[in-house]
Amino acid sequence: MELINPRTFLFVANLLGLLCALVLWVQARSFPKDIEGLHDWAKAVVLMSCASGLISLRGFIPDAASIVLANGLFMLGELLLVFGLLRYTGRKAHWRPALDAIIGVVVLLTWLTYGSHSYQGRIFLVSLANIVFFSLGAWLAWQAKPAGFGSRFLTSAFVLGAGIAAWRLVTLSMNVSEADDVFDRSLIQQVYLGAFSLGILGLSIGFILIANERLREELEFLATRDPMTSALNRRAFFARAEVEWARAERSKRPLAVIASDIDFFKKVNDTYGHHVGDLVIKDYANRAGHMLRLPDILARFGGEEFVILLPETGLKDACRVAERIRQEVQARRDKSLPPFTVSLGIAVLNNGQGDFADLQALLAHADAALYRAKQGGRNRVEY
Ligand code: GH3
Ligand code: MG
Ligand code: MG
Repeated sequence: MELINPRTFLFVANLLGLLCALVLWVQARSFPKDIEGLHDWAKAVVLMSCASGLISLRGFIPDAASIVLANGLFMLGELLLVFGLLRYTGRKAHWRPALDAIIGVVVLLTWLTYGSHSYQGRIFLVSLANIVFFSLGAWLAWQAKPAGFGSRFLTSAFVLGAGIAAWRLVTLSMNVSEADDVFDRSLIQQVYLGAFSLGILGLSIGFILIANERLREELEFLATRDPMTSALNRRAFFARAEVEWARAERSKRPLAVIASDIDFFKKVNDTYGHHVGDLVIKDYANRAGHMLRLPDILARFGGEEFVILLPETGLKDACRVAERIRQEVQARRDKSLPPFTVSLGIAVLNNGQGDFADLQALLAHADAALYRAKQGGRNRVEY
């Protein structure tokens, strides 16, 4: 009894593959332009589906189409997969040498089909090419960001493809009497064809997954960051700060906030223009950010006003951090920018500054300290 008809199976798998290509194509059009490679993947899946369509017509159409053309298209598809991944991971793709190699393989394949009639030679060549492409794909997919489920899924699909091609090579050398019939009902042929079709499907799904993960990451970044400085925005600050507040309350460990504001910033704008004002804000965010530890967060509250949250940090250390930032700003590293200074106000929970009812009260205390720093002559730290 025949469990699966290979031709029907290939046909269905192809249809599913083409549907995936459609999804990839729609994503390529609607996703941000910096998520590259989706177009290549969509084209790759179409090429590979066409190739497997031609293979399933073996016997009905000339060998030139079902063997030579089919394998050529399949390799082109694999090349596009790899190049799409290269682009996705921000690398450059060099078409020429890869295309030359594929043309070389196709020429050799033509000779093996019509010249020497070597079925074994053909399988050997095609399997070898598949191993190369799939291994390359696996290696790239493993490094693709984000390193989440999509990347792992894609890597597994590539590894599986390379593994099956390798298995094909090994069984080839053991089973010399295999017939020249692609729909040979032998186990290896069935498994090979099944895996081949499912593989295209698996790869497409892997690409869709990883591109969606990248999109989610980018949207999350956009939703939580100030576009000008990449510092956290107010909303993201409160989300993080509430968690740290609860943790500090429970553990009775200190939690510090520093409110900071650039001095006489209106004068920077008036004297040098709004554009230079923007550069000063970016410079401040950049340098202040570099003075912080990993768990600390820097948020832009508006204009040239930034708030820093320092978990597990007492008054003494918070003063040290604020003073370091003040001095760093005063040092004027970038000579193309006008000199500027910053005033900072500190408030610390669980560190001898009295009780704070909530996060807002803590921030109000830091703001009051900042106001005192301004009143006291600016370019200073108060708590
Ligand atoms: P002080 O020392 O008291 O802080 O004086 P100041 O001049 O810095 O006063 P203030 O902090 O109130 O000034 C904020 C100014 O920053 C007002 C506004 O025009 C300007 N500003 C707000 N957002 C931006 C921005 O994104 N870019 C630029 N270039 N300027 C901005
Ligand atoms: Mg100011
Ligand atoms: Mg201000």
